Amino acid sequence: MLWSKTLIPTLKEDPADAEVISHKLLVRAGFIKQVSRGVYDYFPLALRVIRKIEQIVREEMNRAGAQELLMPISAPAELWQESGRWEMYGKELLRFKDRNERDFCLGPTHEEIVTDLVRRSVRSYRELPFNLYQIQTKFRDEPRPRFGLMRGREFIMKDAYSFHTDVEDCRREYDNMVQTYKRIFTRCGLSFRPVEADTGAIGGNQSHEFQVLAESGEDAIVSCNTCDYAANVEKAEVRAARPAGRDIAEESPQLEKVSTPGKKSVAEVAEYLKLPVERFIKTLVFKTDSGEFVAALVRGDHEINDLKLRAVLGAREIALADEASVAAAAGAMPGFLGPIGLKLRMIADLSVHGMRAAVTGANEADAHFIQVDQERDFTPSAFADLRLAVSGDPCPRCDSGTLETHRGIEVGQVFYLGTKYSVAMGATYLDAEGRERPIEMGCYGIGISRLVAAAIEQNHDANGIIWPFSLAPFQVLLLPINYKDKAIREAADKLYQELQQNGVEVLLDDRDERPGVKFKDADLVGIPLRVTLGAKGLEKGCIELRSRRDSKTEEIPVADSVTKIRAVLTQALQA
Ligand code: ATP
Ligand code: MG
Repeated sequence: MLWSKTLIPTLKEDPADAEVISHKLLVRAGFIKQVSRGVYDYFPLALRVIRKIEQIVREEMNRAGAQELLMPISAPAELWQESGRWEMYGKELLRFKDRNERDFCLGPTHEEIVTDLVRRSVRSYRELPFNLYQIQTKFRDEPRPRFGLMRGREFIMKDAYSFHTDVEDCRREYDNMVQTYKRIFTRCGLSFRPVEADTGAIGGNQSHEFQVLAESGEDAIVSCNTCDYAANVEKAEVRAARPAGRDIAEESPQLEKVSTPGKKSVAEVAEYLKLPVERFIKTLVFKTDSGEFVAALVRGDHEINDLKLRAVLGAREIALADEASVAAAAGAMPGFLGPIGLKLRMIADLSVHGMRAAVTGANEADAHFIQVDQERDFTPSAFADLRLAVSGDPCPRCDSGTLETHRGIEVGQVFYLGTKYSVAMGATYLDAEGRERPIEMGCYGIGISRLVAAAIEQNHDANGIIWPFSLAPFQVLLLPINYKDKAIREAADKLYQELQQNGVEVLLDDRDERPGVKFKDADLVGIPLRVTLGAKGLEKGCIELRSRRDSKTEEIPVADSVTKIRAVLTQALQA
């Protein structure tokens, strides 16, 4: 393609609202433009990258035995009511009415639509198993769309759904998809990790996420430094450690109430009392969707994992209670709450078990207890794993490892759904004995447009994007220093033709711009191979080949250039 005929609106300045590098570079390099919050135009270069990703995904999904189809973006409310998610799903589900006042939504994911399709098309066990996928725009009215393509409201997803007669076969397909995802992300040239994950709003009982490792990632993940355990921190189990308080040799003398005027947070009280935060027990009051107030206790240096607490309570939703309800339910203000004498159901984290010489609120203003001995002074309703895993925790799987933390961008997720949707919506088949049984299901998503951002987060430098060869909008950029010069133009046009005839994807910068501008734009846009044609080189019959990634340059004879470039590309795409 010719640069002068392609819409590549590069900018000199970073956009003011962009926080992460992929967002800045995608806007500055002329790939995307925001239309409304979290909704973008994809310019031609971006669409080419998206098509590359889609192609890799298609090839690998087809190879894995899945079939492509296309379902509608809008869905009637009735299907979502059948699954129970019309009520369950929050405001992310964009609901609207058609002209006849019928309720609809824009699909954030397609379990309902595909389950309906299958229950109307499948009768017998002989028609199973199969795996259906589509690549399509999704809409989620995210509360905080941000980071450009990383968290949009409208975004492109590959979603796949598989259908089976039994659990075992469904697990086989789950593993097949895990292997397929590994191949896809490897071909995209990304450094990633599969991690154990929570199942969130999709449901089901087993799940893995594929996380591209990047500092800007919104997810925290932990991995063992010894075995291959890795999990999203939301999901990461924490093994019961030796009770922290037992490290303190002294017998706790009597419980003592001390004055802590105006000191509320653990950090403030710790500093005031000159005691380490690990000696504290934090008491947090949550309200469940059924209206119950429950106290959760964790050590001062730990954080509650809401998902674990929700699961322990068997609640659908939990939220920290506001000050007024805490005061009404617990009889004291947040900041001075403690388990001693508290008249609420209390769930304590495993590490609170047996703590001695601990500090807690005293359930009255401006006062705390010190020398608290858990076993002597209070008994929670239950102990459970409630906290977020932290770096340095012992691995929950192996005996010798410890956990390390990383940041990740979730680019894909696979779920073992079981019969959640098939039972709710009556998707059944007849087995060999003619008995009606619910279909076992799995589902498998990849964020195609988020992958564009993730690839840039991992592949850029101070000057711009560095596309992996497999995702690049073009493989080669031809950069004639002065396209008006007859000799240069003729050489550039000839090479442009020849490369195209050899199946190379090439962009020719035919603009009448200063060389400095062209070089800057070339680095910004990030095409992996740059071929520079200048008067001096051409006099010697040479052109310059430059790798965007490591800036290595090489002078090569014009006569060898097509062969040489093809060799570089073949090697890069095989790597
Ligand atoms: P997140 O936890 O990041 O909100 P999710 O777990 O809700 O994502 P899934 O339902 O698993 O997302 O969707 C499948 C894939 O779609 C995700 O792995 C992710 O790559 C992509 N995706 C989800 N939400 C968005 C979004 N708002 N913008 C871009 N891509 C998204
Ligand atoms: Mg997910």
